[in-house]
Amino acid sequence: MKALVYPAFDQIEIQEIPVPSPKPGELLIRVAAVGICGSELEQFASRSLRRPPPLIMGHEFCGQVAAVGAGIAHFQEGERVVVSSVIPCFACDLCRDGQTHLCPKREVFGMRRPGGFAEYVAVPVAVAFALPEKVSPLEGALVEPLANGVHVFSLVQSRFPETVVVFGAGTIGLLALQVAKALGAFRLVVVDTNPFRLEMAHELGAEPIINPRQEDVKEALSEFTRGRGVDVAIDAAGVAETRQTALSVTRPGGEVVWIGLHSDRTDLSGHEVVLGERKIMGSYAVTSRDIETAIGLFAHGKVELSPWVRPFPLTEGARVFRELLGQPSDYIKGVLLP
Ligand SMILES: [Zn+2]
Ligand SMILES: [Zn+2]
Repeated sequence: MKALVYPAFDQIEIQEIPVPSPKPGELLIRVAAVGICGSELEQFASRSLRRPPPLIMGHEFCGQVAAVGAGIAHFQEGERVVVSSVIPCFACDLCRDGQTHLCPKREVFGMRRPGGFAEYVAVPVAVAFALPEKVSPLEGALVEPLANGVHVFSLVQSRFPETVVVFGAGTIGLLALQVAKALGAFRLVVVDTNPFRLEMAHELGAEPIINPRQEDVKEALSEFTRGRGVDVAIDAAGVAETRQTALSVTRPGGEVVWIGLHSDRTDLSGHEVVLGERKIMGSYAVTSRDIETAIGLFAHGKVELSPWVRPFPLTEGARVFRELLGQPSDYIKGVLLP
């Protein structure tokens, strides 16, 4: 089969490799579509040891069951499925408590085990979910990132936030924005320095959009909320500056969710946290429930992927991967169709 392989640092190429065979309890998936994630681009560029080569990356994929391993009764050949990115142990205290995404023994597709940048991938049946006919393969590849946006709002305690601001109009930011919209938040603000990404956010319902290179974010949001501050701020950029700004623009008692992982250390105002009782939460990956919710959002037509998501044949994977590293000027998310 063909696979987009990361054989060594700084290299990415199409290779011909053997089709994996499913072990007992695994499904062999014929991949229909697989998204290239920002974390993969970032870790490739930084030679991160979180994804050490040689490796087949790809944790955002859907496809059809091509073979069923021993001991599986509830999936059949030909069924359409989407796969969760995280493979938990299902046995530890966190897993038994439903916190499978935090399992200390978790594995992630395309990190230390082969991912979906290939024609076929073997997956434990417990992380496969039936995909309804009305959800397209392209949408199926976006289920996992959309579920990340769902997970953010599963953590937010305010049931009906009025004003939500998203920092970073990349894939996760634009999907979190659409989750907020589906939840009924009616004032959606997006902050980014890239004019094309801001324009996409605007098309998807963000009003206003704010470019920190052109205006002061705190002033603009203070004016927009008449000095009150926003109810929920989501940092999908993951740098010290946006983490602090997200905190500063949030109203007293409001909630801040960090999902971006770009930098580690961050200097914050402790006074803004304590005196304003602002809550800061980290959001990581997805649970089964988030995946099911994301499938439902697509099935009900709540999420728009055009024109910011673009499909390409797998054979163009290496070129597309490098193109995305340079932030293309007319699309945001690349999806490979093996
Ligand atoms: Zn991802
Ligand atoms: Zn576990």
